[in-house]
Amino acid sequence: MAARHGIPSRLTEAELADIEGQPPAWLVQSRSNRTSKKRVWVELTCHICGFSEPARPKKWWPEFTWLTCSHHGYDELPEPATGLTRSEYDGIGSRFIGVVDGNQRGQR
Ligand SMILES: [Zn+2]
Repeated sequence: MAARHGIPSRLTEAELADIEGQPPAWLVQSRSNRTSKKRVWVELTCHICGFSEPARPKKWWPEFTWLTCSHHGYDELPEPATGLTRSEYDGIGSRFIGVVDGNQRGQR
């Protein structure tokens, strides 16, 4: 790995300190990628009452059309546009239901 970036396989401590002091662009890049991957948070906001909480998005979350707290009634949301099918996903964050209005069930 290191050799591919032009770094000799054996570094003296001075050389290493030099790199740490002035990290090459690719190293800064790969470090910030690593940290940002760990810190991806989204703000979940209820469309009806405005309650919001930060959450880590799950891989299976689709792109929600609406987000509401689970205690709101189904009829508190606007109707889906003509021809769109509404799907609900519960278990979003601590108290949210995600609503997706899509063209076909299970597909986008
Ligand atoms: Zn709410």
